[in-house]
Amino acid sequence: MSSQQSTASGNRVLVGTPVVPGVAYAPVMWPGDRPELPPAGPELPEDARDAEADRFSRAALAVAGRLRDRASQATGAASEVLATTAGLATDKAWLGTTEKLIRGGSPATNAVAAATDQFADMFTKLGGLMAERVTDLRDVRDRILAELLGTPEPGVPAPSEPAILLADDLAPADTAGLDPALIVGIGTRLGGPTSHTAIIARQLGIPCIVGLAEAGAVDAGTPVLIDGGEGTITVEPPAAEARTRVEESARRAAEIARWRGPGHTSDGAPVAILSNVQDGASARTAAERPVEGVGLFRTELAFLDRAEEPSVDEQAALYREVVDAFPGGKVVIRTLDAGSDKPLKFVDHAHEENPALGVRGIRIAEGDPGLLDRQLDAIAAAADGAAAAPWVMAPMIATAAEARAFAAKARSRGLVAGVMVEVPAVALCADAVLAEVDFVSLGTNDLTQYAMAADRMSSELASLTDPWQPAVLRLIKLTAEAGTAAGKPVGVCGEAAADPLLACVLVGLGVTSLSCAAGAAAAVGARVAGVTLQQCRWAAEAAVGAADPAGAREAARAALA
Ligand code: PEP
Ligand code: MG
Repeated sequence: MSSQQSTASGNRVLVGTPVVPGVAYAPVMWPGDRPELPPAGPELPEDARDAEADRFSRAALAVAGRLRDRASQATGAASEVLATTAGLATDKAWLGTTEKLIRGGSPATNAVAAATDQFADMFTKLGGLMAERVTDLRDVRDRILAELLGTPEPGVPAPSEPAILLADDLAPADTAGLDPALIVGIGTRLGGPTSHTAIIARQLGIPCIVGLAEAGAVDAGTPVLIDGGEGTITVEPPAAEARTRVEESARRAAEIARWRGPGHTSDGAPVAILSNVQDGASARTAAERPVEGVGLFRTELAFLDRAEEPSVDEQAALYREVVDAFPGGKVVIRTLDAGSDKPLKFVDHAHEENPALGVRGIRIAEGDPGLLDRQLDAIAAAADGAAAAPWVMAPMIATAAEARAFAAKARSRGLVAGVMVEVPAVALCADAVLAEVDFVSLGTNDLTQYAMAADRMSSELASLTDPWQPAVLRLIKLTAEAGTAAGKPVGVCGEAAADPLLACVLVGLGVTSLSCAAGAAAAVGARVAGVTLQQCRWAAEAAVGAADPAGAREAARAALA
């Protein structure tokens, strides 16, 4: 899909990566300028350096304090993000580097800019989630610069009328303070769907698009229509048409709010709507939504900050918390998917040139089988006496032999065994893999990354890492057909399951459960409930036969109308 299109009536349409669905019509606003980076100043005399270092420490403390105050007033993801940003302002390594530069004669403003560049380079090289923290770090730098220069703290001014905020990139601390009654849409040129800005926009329910390459071409004050579900911004659309789209979207939102589950098509074909979680707290939050269980418990995310491997007892207690959040419901626990963008400190990750294709997920068990054995022991212990036994699945399986070995270990502990379909080789040999296990779950994030040879974290490659790519749909089709033939469940637990339109296509392809962020579940359930299984099958056939993602979306929409 190109980054700019036009509508039938000739209006300019900017295309980006959809993040938070919803439609709004309002004039554009741009955030105020960030402080200018200072030109290199003269070297400080020796006797002024201590005072300058002191001035810098006080500025950093003041910024951290203000961010912490805002964190304590906010809730949920916004509070967590503000606290994380405050943590960056007191990060010992970064403060130490800045102070060292000041003691070497650099004025504080130059030192903080240079230290930030150094850390930003390091984070960028690490890639993945670390690379996404570069925006947070630059925001902290700008706040400290403003403090040092005595200028107002940078941020997004509150508009007097509802507005759609366009920006190159938004600092998470800016996004966390937005009022959804006044900022009715967000579009950024940079940033990916997992950036902090995206996470907060999701929590605030503000329609949001990232990767809008042409955002800079729309001036402040221009009326635009944002469609966060489609990832489009229509510039100066006919006002009446735009208002109708907003009303339709509000009607859909009301339908979603009314939807309660359990999941099924309008003619009663069951489709379990499940949630992705990462610990007990997120499972309990998910249980408040209309979901029937957990389709993916990412256990590695519960241990990202741990230096030592948690004991079997500690792991068992954590897994049991998640199982108990859905008494009698389905809970699928994934064994550690460590490595690549999710390294764990207690797992031995050797340096690799290409970690996404390296020793990650189940491949770690080859060198360290004890780690997997202890985790399976803990899952079996969590199952003991629970209202329903959890299922267990392994990430990054590439062959039927790996699936067989994993299933043997899981079954010897009385567990129902499955594997994720994230490697195209497994989709291509789905019949052989399904012969070894009780179920499979399609991890469409990695399946798309590996099928399209495009880094899932790259905002530049977002049009390739689109699960609507016909190649990805064909791999899903192969897997679902093998599942139907074997009479075994085939779930989807990647981000694709959070897209209500794509969810209908997945159901039509033969997928039996959809697992996504709890907040996205009702929109998926309500959409599936509005169409028949036959319509889903027509939509699937049309989408798989399309030439590209845009054509697949259009064909699916037409088949479901
Ligand atoms: C996936 O790859 O789609 C998946 C669900 O796993 P993760 O996003 O944790 O890699
Ligand atoms: Mg994955």
